[in-house]
Amino acid sequence: MADLQLPGDTTDLNNLPDPALLPAINLFNYLPVAFYTCNREGYVTSYNRAAAELWGREPEIGKERWSGSWKAFYTDDTPIGLEDSTMARTLQSGVAVHGEEFLIQRPNGEVRIIQPYPEPVFDSTGKLIGATNTVLDITGQKNDEKNQAMLAAIIRSSDDAIISKTLQGIITSWNQAAEKLFGYTGQEVIGKHISILIPADRIAEEELIIGKVRNSENVDHFETFRLRKNGEEIAISLTVSPIKDNKGRIIGASKIARDISKQKYAEARLQRYAENLEILNSFGKVIAEDMNVQAILQKVTDATTQLTQATVGAFFYNQVDEQGESSSLYALSGVSKAAFERSGAPRDTDIFNAAFSDKGILRVDDITKDAHYDKNTAYFGMPEGNLAIASYLAVPVVSKDGLIIGGLFYGHPQPAMFTEEHEQLVAGVAAQAAVALDNAKLYQEIKVLNGKKDEFIGMASHELKTPVTSINGYLQLIERSIPEEDRNKAFIVKARNQVNKLAALIGDLLDVSKIQTGKLPFSYSNFDMVNLITEVTEVIHQTNNSHIVQLVFDNNELPVYADQQRMEQVIINLVSNAIKYSPNANRIIVRATLAGKKVRVSVQDFGIGIENDQHGRIFSRFYRVENLAAHMSGLGIGLYISHEIIRRHKGKLTLTSEVGAGSTFFFEIPVE
Ligand code: ADP
Repeated sequence: MADLQLPGDTTDLNNLPDPALLPAINLFNYLPVAFYTCNREGYVTSYNRAAAELWGREPEIGKERWSGSWKAFYTDDTPIGLEDSTMARTLQSGVAVHGEEFLIQRPNGEVRIIQPYPEPVFDSTGKLIGATNTVLDITGQKNDEKNQAMLAAIIRSSDDAIISKTLQGIITSWNQAAEKLFGYTGQEVIGKHISILIPADRIAEEELIIGKVRNSENVDHFETFRLRKNGEEIAISLTVSPIKDNKGRIIGASKIARDISKQKYAEARLQRYAENLEILNSFGKVIAEDMNVQAILQKVTDATTQLTQATVGAFFYNQVDEQGESSSLYALSGVSKAAFERSGAPRDTDIFNAAFSDKGILRVDDITKDAHYDKNTAYFGMPEGNLAIASYLAVPVVSKDGLIIGGLFYGHPQPAMFTEEHEQLVAGVAAQAAVALDNAKLYQEIKVLNGKKDEFIGMASHELKTPVTSINGYLQLIERSIPEEDRNKAFIVKARNQVNKLAALIGDLLDVSKIQTGKLPFSYSNFDMVNLITEVTEVIHQTNNSHIVQLVFDNNELPVYADQQRMEQVIINLVSNAIKYSPNANRIIVRATLAGKKVRVSVQDFGIGIENDQHGRIFSRFYRVENLAAHMSGLGIGLYISHEIIRRHKGKLTLTSEVGAGSTFFFEIPVE
């Protein structure tokens, strides 16, 4: 940049600056502020470096008027004629025109915002001879102002609460969202300590946050709770950053608080939903399978108390027995039986009874305000100081024939804790519970009937045994007294055979009832299984020669320690079945082998076979397969008894079978 431009030789001498001005001109040449002079006609007569820098060019002395700038505009961007510049107006009027702002553009396109301060210059006679102009570049300042205004607008319109505070925690600014979120106006909180927003149990958090800010660290999305003006706690996510001055010193903190209560609520709901599902899933199956009424009551009570988040839950169940006598059972959750009984079990009150009437579900936000409350001081869990509840929910449990068989009750010490959602959840569970209880009731009834049937079988077979035994005795006497040649002798033998069959059936029935009552006696001894099988099959063959019984032994002897009579019973049963259920075949194979420390006996037939799905059932009491064999005589107890005998010998009775090809039943018992 050139030094101060002075008029050259060619300059009109009339236009030379007053020498009186020269010291001033020298003085301003190196000043950082743009400065120039014009003569009376407005021609630029001198300018300093700062002026040339501001204009971005060097005007020709004595040739350019009013200013050295390339282009000039008003602040609304409309161009200014140079005659309208403040310099021109000052020279015209002889009065300084101050304080106006303009834009000038440099030849390289850059725009600056300026504020010119032209001053008229008079000679000693008071005649206007020119003017000086000091031009301030206010671009930086203007931009700062603009940025600040923009920032303020952003902060104002932010949805997040934005607060600034000093390092001592004094609130220094507070936007509209902060007002909305916390309920305080700026006026109320600016100058106050930030702790007015912090719940008592979280005051320590502030230390932590300020500590980080002092270390120039940010706190990002810190999820916590803050207090509203009305004392309510809200879930927020905090982002806190240090505020630095222009020298980089930390002077405070800015804090952005986002209301995340909706998000938290949604999260909590989702979580709850998942938990509820889990509870429902886990207990649904259990109660459907459980046949114990008290256990069902307890499970339902526990699960629903959890589902409703009640502090206390109860299930009252009305049982009616065969005699029509009703009694009630109950289960509790969240309170001990002792505490509950101390505080008075449910009474005959309107509120309690409502659940057992057809009024349906009863949900009360605050039972203490209920019209019936005062009149019924002793209903469900409400005595002084004990089990005090406000929220109340009662859901009737209705059986499928429409009878109210019980009620589910929940309480919570705070009012309005139960919602419609809880109501629906419990209603759903109550319906399931009703089915489970109906089933359990049926099951109990069946159990009772079954017990009676067993009792009858035991008694009847016992009663039958005595006359059959005496008939057999008499027949033996008659048989002995009749000479061989008497043709009636054959009838007596036949009659005795039938009586023996009858005695065997009665014996089996008696065994069944003994197994039921756990009184089937065993008497163990050492014997040879090979020998036993041989003898038994011979006896069978004598009475029934439709089939050949093949015997296969891998040893001459297979000594075992077992109940010989019971083993005989099992073998007779298996071989008789093999014969009975293979009417179109003519042979049976009985094998006995030693397998380690076990004796393994199998009875194979080539008969009708048994479908796979029946294999598990044929060993149960009175079970007979409904197939071609259904018309064959039998009670369905032989395999049941055999299975039990083998089981009691610590062995196993199983089978393989193919329909149409035959079955193999085999059992294994330990040698010892
Ligand atoms: P029962 O023979 O008196 O009916 P069991 O308890 O001995 O009673 O047998 C139960 C059922 O198993 C029989 O009714 C029959 O349907 C089936 N079963 C038993 N053994 C055989 C076999 N060897 N082949 C085909 N079915 C058999």
